[in-house]
Amino acid sequence: MPRPSAQPSPPPDWRRQLARAVRDPRELLQRLDLPMTLLPAAESAARLFPLRVPEPWLARIRPGDPDDPLLRQVLPLAAEHETPAGFTADPVGDAAAEANPGLLHKYHGRVLLITTGACAIHCRYCFRRHFPYTESQAGRDDWRATLAWLDAHPEVDEVILSGGDPLTLSDRRLATLTEALAQRPQVRRLRLHTRLPVVLPDRITPGLMALLKGPWEVVWVIHSNHAQELDSTVAGALARLREAGHWLLNQTVLLRRINDDADTLAALSRQLFQLGVLPYYLHLLDRVQGAAHFEVTELRARALAAELAARLPGYLVPRLVREEAGEPAKTPVTPLAGSSCNINDSRP
Ligand SMILES: *Cc1c(COP(=O)(O)O)cnc(C)c1O
Ligand code: SF4
Repeated sequence: MPRPSAQPSPPPDWRRQLARAVRDPRELLQRLDLPMTLLPAAESAARLFPLRVPEPWLARIRPGDPDDPLLRQVLPLAAEHETPAGFTADPVGDAAAEANPGLLHKYHGRVLLITTGACAIHCRYCFRRHFPYTESQAGRDDWRATLAWLDAHPEVDEVILSGGDPLTLSDRRLATLTEALAQRPQVRRLRLHTRLPVVLPDRITPGLMALLKGPWEVVWVIHSNHAQELDSTVAGALARLREAGHWLLNQTVLLRRINDDADTLAALSRQLFQLGVLPYYLHLLDRVQGAAHFEVTELRARALAAELAARLPGYLVPRLVREEAGEPAKTPVTPLAGSSCNINDSRP
């Protein structure tokens, strides 16, 4: 099986794109022809959670439009300083579920590995914005504790690589892990929770595809919130995954003024399917400090889910869920029957 070679070679494009991501709010506003009146708030909120926007994402934002749905996912706003009741630093109970450093075992039969704290993009609504990554990451190239835990839990047949974003790790580091996992026949499914096929499509390289080969099915759960994210470069990356025979699913976070209308969500489902991806979850926002302004009320979310079900074939309707600490699975949220006619009334 081809493995990344030990020969020195120039860093792949995705590494440069990662290193050169925009981190300065002023640069972001200048590049996108946005008013400098947004700068003080952006700079102050970026001190709570740093700005990070890589070039391929920037290229899909409409210049001059402060309401662009891709911009709104990454632009730091003054509202992040608000601390309404019910919004906490660890809304999904990750601290309690940490069975080992960097290993979350919440659900039967599958285990989630925090492989790194790094992401290629910083999504302002992210529930991990307060996660103590430095304490929780698996040590550099040291997966021993994780592997020992797996050996002690033979009933776990699915390993989820998550983070942060697992694909910000180098091929070499990932290969150290997948080579060790491939020696454990209990692992029937290797799952990746990643935004990189969307955010940095160049990350999907032949070297990556080679190191993911193993005695398992590979399942990708990508994360896209709006059809505008899915340009031809993303289509190319997803086509490479499909050619390798991998399963492709998508999760979306329901976000106020980004994708909280039925037209936008239906367009996203259709576009995903066009690219070979099935909609999997539509998440209610995790109630994390600093993200309250993204919240869509549960009532409105349920009405949107009903509207989607009325418009799309069943296999294009994502499951509306919320994550509750201590539950054995994501909690389903029932669509609101009969109310789909007036869902647009509450749009701010
Ligand atoms: C969401 C999550 C999973 C995956 O859940 P599925 O319903 O299988 O997609 C697994 N482990 C943890 C800790 C999770 O948060
Ligand atoms: S973990 Fe996912 S949602 Fe959170 S910042 Fe990283 S890419 Fe965005």
